[in-house]
Amino acid sequence: MNSPVMQGLTLNTPAHVKNAKLIAWVADMVALCKPESVYWCDGSNEEYDRLCQQLVDAGTFKKLNPAKRANSFLACSDPSDVARVEDRTFICSAKKEDAGPTNNWKDPAEMRALLQPLFDGCMKGRTMYVVPFSMGPLGSNIAHIGVELTDSAYVAVNQKLMTRMGRAVYDVLGVEGEFVPCLHTVGAPLAAGEKDSTAWPCNPTTKYIVHYPETREIWSYGSGYGGNALLGKKCLALRIASNMGREQGWLAEHMLILGVTNPQGKKYHVAAAFPSACGKTNFSMLVPPAAFNGWNVTTIGDDIAWIKPQADGSLRAINPEAGYFGVAPGTNTLTNPNCMASLDKDVIFTNVALTDDGDVWWEGMEKDNGNTPAHLIDWQGKDWTPAIAKETGAKAAHPNARFTVAATNNPALDSAWDDPAGVTIDAFIFGGRRSTTVPLVTEARNWTEGVYMAATMGSETTAAAFGQQGVVRRDPFAMLPFCGYNMSDYFQHWLNTGAKITASGGKQPKIFTTNWFRKGEDGKFVWPGYGENMRVLKWMIDRIEGQAQGVDTIFGVAPAYGEINWTGLDFNEAQFNTVTSIDRAAWVDELKLHSAHFEQLAYHLPQELVSTKAALEQRLGA
Ligand code: GDP
Ligand code: PGA
Ligand code: MN
Repeated sequence: MNSPVMQGLTLNTPAHVKNAKLIAWVADMVALCKPESVYWCDGSNEEYDRLCQQLVDAGTFKKLNPAKRANSFLACSDPSDVARVEDRTFICSAKKEDAGPTNNWKDPAEMRALLQPLFDGCMKGRTMYVVPFSMGPLGSNIAHIGVELTDSAYVAVNQKLMTRMGRAVYDVLGVEGEFVPCLHTVGAPLAAGEKDSTAWPCNPTTKYIVHYPETREIWSYGSGYGGNALLGKKCLALRIASNMGREQGWLAEHMLILGVTNPQGKKYHVAAAFPSACGKTNFSMLVPPAAFNGWNVTTIGDDIAWIKPQADGSLRAINPEAGYFGVAPGTNTLTNPNCMASLDKDVIFTNVALTDDGDVWWEGMEKDNGNTPAHLIDWQGKDWTPAIAKETGAKAAHPNARFTVAATNNPALDSAWDDPAGVTIDAFIFGGRRSTTVPLVTEARNWTEGVYMAATMGSETTAAAFGQQGVVRRDPFAMLPFCGYNMSDYFQHWLNTGAKITASGGKQPKIFTTNWFRKGEDGKFVWPGYGENMRVLKWMIDRIEGQAQGVDTIFGVAPAYGEINWTGLDFNEAQFNTVTSIDRAAWVDELKLHSAHFEQLAYHLPQELVSTKAALEQRLGA
């Protein structure tokens, strides 16, 4: 392969890269972004080590004490660049109605005109990394290939852990294969001879996370943070893939996938959608309490599911990712021992605190051994002591501090996690974070009611996205920030999928809702959560097996106190009522919020959802 020369810069296209469209696109983007050099990632371990060392030399990474955490690094971001930026995220479909009222929209031609000057020269003084990756097992017919061009080595090494990244992707891509072009820049070009003045270059004032659904392109400017910069994840695997799924008849969902095996060896698969920082990673790695001897929970995925209806009416699901980008704070050996074991080695930490002996720390870890370190360097590089924290409220780790780790580090990894054929889904769960109103668990009486419950789900906002926290907002299917097209069309797609299952002679998976986060009068969570969620999961399995009768409520079927195995947990009926009770007045108000939500989504809103709401209102006497 010859190496086209652009403005004196050699593209250095490796001989094994034969895809004409890719080579032409890289040449165009090099001409636009004007990097100092181009580097084609091969995905090897040697390359990973080299790039990590380079990040250490640049001051972006701190190498952790290998005796404490082997081959692991800490990056601390610019304080302005710690979460997804939903108000800077755009779906630029040709027609505004196709983006729908829940997405920011701009005409694609206008957006291109706006971005052109921003991207012109945006990589000056930096290396452009060409990062080829597969979302889903390489070569699987469910998988999709992306190529990310980025001027961030941090992104390149994170992509190595999060995706199947490297040379083999080019073999699958071949000469004519399709890929999703993903362009990313931190938006901080350097003048000739200029050196970075910060260890986390980004653009503190200008950010754009832009998707063109029709042409399947992603352009991201100004941020180095995971959800904004690791473009295979939320941008490709959810926003672009939801568009592909809509057209091709499958689902791209913000869901973990777990396997749960009972003591007789019978295995079920559950896919669960919780908004960001509402418990997906934890639930996917759940360790059952001692009373559930013989039960086993295994992880297929912790964040994203691609689900395809089969000719026999079953739904097969894969996890398109190959790693976890998880929330660190709150994680400890009591709440999630599998997660802590996953973090023993080969981890990239972002925005956690550094201990004096070169290890990491975050809020929640004190529960491991009862110890809070006497001194730390916090995520902003400042001294931190318990006394300072008490006085100023300073957090050692940012509340949205993250770890990046390969799935293969997880001791609970499911043996089929990498199976190109995926696993068959037996149940869906939709769960929000609500301190009041929403009960611990209910089961929808039918598919349409389940779609209604998911479509109207509310959740309190978290640190995973910029903006005010703890405010209840509607987050349909936990997809509010990730659905790449009109939300009402998306509801219709779910209704159609249910109909398709039945038409093919399949059995529709049961649909449950959960809320682990109800609070008591003392402001504390009443439900113990984490591993104890197994008790709820077991009730769901009992329902699938026809072993639990349940109680009919206004909002579906709920467990009777006696239907849950309480062995080993002190949780009396009064406490149970606190997390399961349905307060009529609160629900009259909640339904008003559903009405407002439906008014916003009136265009193309499926009639079945409107009539489901009317039926609920009637039951409630509202
Ligand atoms: P994800 O972003 O949806 O994957 O959420 P995570 O599993 O990373 O959890 C986000 C935050 O919620 C962390 O601080 C967890 O410790 C906390 N969390 C997760 N599951 C539970 C639970 O069952 N109960 C409570 N109270 N907190 C939880
Ligand atoms: P999660 O994803 O919080 O859903 O795990 C990461 C993000 O939203 O940036
Ligand atoms: Mn997660």
